[in-house]
Amino acid sequence: MSRFFSSRHASLTAYTPGEQPQDRRYVKLNTNESPFPPSPAVVAAAAAEAARLQLYSDPESRAVTEAVAARYGVSPDMVLMVNGSDEILNFAFLAFGDAEHGFVCPDISYGFYPVFAALNHVPLREIPLRDDFSVDPEDYCGVGANIVLANPNAPTGRALPLADIERIVQTNPGHVVVIDEAYVDFGGESCAALVKRYDNLLVTQTFSKSRSLAGGRLGFGIGCPALIRDLNTIKYSTNPYNVNRMSAACGAAAIADDAYYRKNARTIMENRAYTAQALRQRGFEVLPSAANFLFARPAFCGGGELYRGLKARGVLIRHWDKPRIEAWCRITVGTKEQMDALLAAIDDMIREANA
Ligand SMILES: *Cc1c(COP(=O)(O)O)cnc(C)c1O
Repeated sequence: MSRFFSSRHASLTAYTPGEQPQDRRYVKLNTNESPFPPSPAVVAAAAAEAARLQLYSDPESRAVTEAVAARYGVSPDMVLMVNGSDEILNFAFLAFGDAEHGFVCPDISYGFYPVFAALNHVPLREIPLRDDFSVDPEDYCGVGANIVLANPNAPTGRALPLADIERIVQTNPGHVVVIDEAYVDFGGESCAALVKRYDNLLVTQTFSKSRSLAGGRLGFGIGCPALIRDLNTIKYSTNPYNVNRMSAACGAAAIADDAYYRKNARTIMENRAYTAQALRQRGFEVLPSAANFLFARPAFCGGGELYRGLKARGVLIRHWDKPRIEAWCRITVGTKEQMDALLAAIDDMIREANA
């Protein structure tokens, strides 16, 4: 810390992203990226737009905003495009949170929520998940605070049905409910259509997971026009050109190529079922998942041991040294070949443990 760093941030602990090591080629199953490249139309759109990078991007990102609005059946003034959905989550804490208007979220969820809360000096109360790592919707009904809930949740992969989400939104009319749908395309139920009936619902989604654009940094929020206007006030007070030309062009092309991404999501869901069964055969406890990852607990070793043993064998997964989940690991679901490499490395560890 320099002597210039504001004391406001002295106690801030920044988010730790999953490692992106450059030292060797890993089977990379640690940050829930898609194993599939963007569609050829998206690659072509990026290349064409690169030739126009001398010009600022459209601050309203009109083309991709209209494409997203049409895809989700809302009007363009109910959509805000952002530089990865992390950006709109931060905007939401900044726009709707203050000392009197805190947030609640599950104790085991996306690690960025507490960081956004701390950065913006917004109180955040964590509500424990049940012992089976499911969200009890009753905990959130009429809770009297703003809510941020990932559905499906991360790193557990468990999802709530739409009816539960609607009840949470309905019973908190005086507070904003942010539903983070980063993983919804892998078997969850989107609540995006509810924004037309509830003015306190903000749905966030990303192009990073199901749409193979993690490196493009593109996400969006869907909410009633007044909520979107508030978030735009924050956006225009920080960075009007938050979405660059290439990413906006990629996003519009990706929406147009929906069939390609739906097919990839189906493949990942098949590989998820295959891997969950194979892990259970090897003694793992595996949570039901509606996401492109599995949350699993090995029986033959600890969570940290599994992470380190697999890394030594060239397979990266994610582990948190955190109460309640230190015995567990989160494994991104990739191609069948990647899953077989994972299973071979696990078999090697099991052999070594039994030797
Ligand atoms: C990956 C992820 C995001 C955001 O990702 P971006 O790349 O910033 O769009 C948001 N929420 C959860 C739960 C995630 O896992």
